Amino acid sequence: MDRILAVQTSLPTTVRLVAVTKTVPTTLMRAAYQAGVRHFAESRVQEALAKQAELRDLRDITWHFIGHLQSNKALRVLESFSWIHSLDTLKLAEYLNALGSKLGKRPQVCLQVKILPDDHKFGWSPDQLWREVGALEQCTNLDLCGLMTIPPQGLPDADIAAVFAVTRELAAAISQGSRLSLHDLSMGMSGDYQLAVAAGATMVRLGTILFGDRPVGELGS
Ligand SMILES: *Cc1c(COP(=O)(O)O)cnc(C)c1O
Repeated sequence: MDRILAVQTSLPTTVRLVAVTKTVPTTLMRAAYQAGVRHFAESRVQEALAKQAELRDLRDITWHFIGHLQSNKALRVLESFSWIHSLDTLKLAEYLNALGSKLGKRPQVCLQVKILPDDHKFGWSPDQLWREVGALEQCTNLDLCGLMTIPPQGLPDADIAAVFAVTRELAAAISQGSRLSLHDLSMGMSGDYQLAVAAGATMVRLGTILFGDRPVGELGS
């Protein structure tokens, strides 16, 4: 777990390390927990529920959902995760909001944005998000507290840094111009987290750099 300690100490104390553990066995997750990690992120509901059951004894873990959320999984995600980083449509926001009110749950949620067009990613474009801010404000059973972004693959560092900077500016502008308070920025993965931290990330989502390569076919989300 040397890698985890090295990454942890390299992060400013204001930046939360969220360990991405899709495909990572619970033995390694326990080791990460021993090294001080308390925030774990999964992208597949079935896999996450099985691991949550196995790690039930580690009571102070906070679970983050980072996968593409489908409405048929929304109930399970609401029941089992404190954070959702990947909310990507108004329709789903309204559905989660209604479910949340029924269940008495109010998850912390980041809205996923695409600063640059990207056919491989879900999320709001800045224009779409501005158009729907008013409707999102009505979703009071969701703690809409930040933005999440993933830059398109293969960009040079300067462009990645620009995507992160624009995301920060968008969060600030929406917080100014609406009743939402988007103070969290979930940005940065193993390959680009230093750029994200420099641009103001409050949470980095790190998998490979902590746990090694995932099996082939498990790239991206
Ligand atoms: C897999 C995944 C990560 C972690 O990626 P690494 O490059 O392994 O650090 C972060 N965010 C999301 C949404 C993911 O699906």
